[in-house]
Amino acid sequence: MGTYRIAAIPGDGIGKEVIAAGCRVLEHLAQQKNGLSIEFKTLPWGSDQYLETGEMMPNDALDTLRGFDAIFFGSAGDPRVPDHISLWKLRLAICQGLDQYANIRPTKLLPGLSSPLKNGTSETIDWFIVRENSEGEYSGAGGRVHQDLSNEVGLDVSVITRSGAERIQRFAFDIARSRPRKKLTFVTKSNAQRHAMVLWDEVFEKTSADYPDIKTDRVLVDAMAARFVTDPESIDTVIATNLHADVLSDLAAALSGSLGLAPTGNINPERENPSMFEPIHGSAFDIMGHGTANPLGSFWSASLMLDHLGEHEAATLLFRAIETVTGDGSALPRDLGGQAGTDEVTEAVCKAL
Ligand code: NAD
Ligand code: MN
Repeated sequence: MGTYRIAAIPGDGIGKEVIAAGCRVLEHLAQQKNGLSIEFKTLPWGSDQYLETGEMMPNDALDTLRGFDAIFFGSAGDPRVPDHISLWKLRLAICQGLDQYANIRPTKLLPGLSSPLKNGTSETIDWFIVRENSEGEYSGAGGRVHQDLSNEVGLDVSVITRSGAERIQRFAFDIARSRPRKKLTFVTKSNAQRHAMVLWDEVFEKTSADYPDIKTDRVLVDAMAARFVTDPESIDTVIATNLHADVLSDLAAALSGSLGLAPTGNINPERENPSMFEPIHGSAFDIMGHGTANPLGSFWSASLMLDHLGEHEAATLLFRAIETVTGDGSALPRDLGGQAGTDEVTEAVCKAL
């Protein structure tokens, strides 16, 4: 049991709504649980600040964040700011700067919810996607030349390094080993991308030799998308590069009920820097300010954060409270077919705690 300092970065759009709700639930949880104390500092970084100052976050932001035990993040994205600026100057700058190279995305079908899959049950939908979070297709390497001319070129270079591939693959093997089925599906696209992806494959072959107790299979990313729909029970733990896992995990979230539910953690496994936890959804321009955003993804992310901090019992209590609310069905948000607003869902989870 301990005292934790959490940096809350609500960011933009519904990020502000669901992080406020998440802080409320965590404060409530700490009141219920002897010896658990959580101090929040809310950092007003994001597009409002960008429009005022030209920066999404201050120059010494990473140093500031290093002073916290974990980061609780909402969303980056505002209709008034180009998406590549809001994302790269805030969320990606934090993930890369703090070397949060492992992105974890658990997916489960919660009680009371239904999947759009006809064979989607709590047994068939229990997946754990591990996303490489520092390089690959989102490395940021590339550029634009001959701007505005007809021969203008735009390049995004997909970068795989041997060390980067190995560290994330080992991390995924360790997760697979911690789960009952001891199974890891390796996602690639080395038939079409014949340099970086082939290295990605070769590293996997070598790394898997150290994990003889884990069953592995290898799937091309396009076939993997189909397999989530046609053969969900064949999937347990999944490892994929940055872009591939980004897309597959939104698919996984939708198959488990809604994007509004899905949590994620950006982890620095060596714990040299704080890790960052966030719902996987974005700013949801279409519903921001309406008070209808589903906060359950934020609460589940808070549960992952507690787990990472070593507060396993508190993490489980919070997860069970989420399950109680979905199972009961009287305070479901709109994206899950109910009528409850953000505040009512938050109230219900506090009550369940
Ligand atoms: P989005 O996740 O914001 O929204 C997609 C759809 O899902 C919308 O219809 C939205 O209303 C719905 N939705 C998402 N979260 C919900 C919730 N909690 N409750 C109810 N409905 C929810 O994705 P988008 O529209 O592609 O992107 C909007 C902005 O968010 C863009 O600027 C994008 O760059 C940004 N974005 C940021 C992050 C991040 O910061 N991690 C992630 C994704 C998108
Ligand atoms: Mn995404």
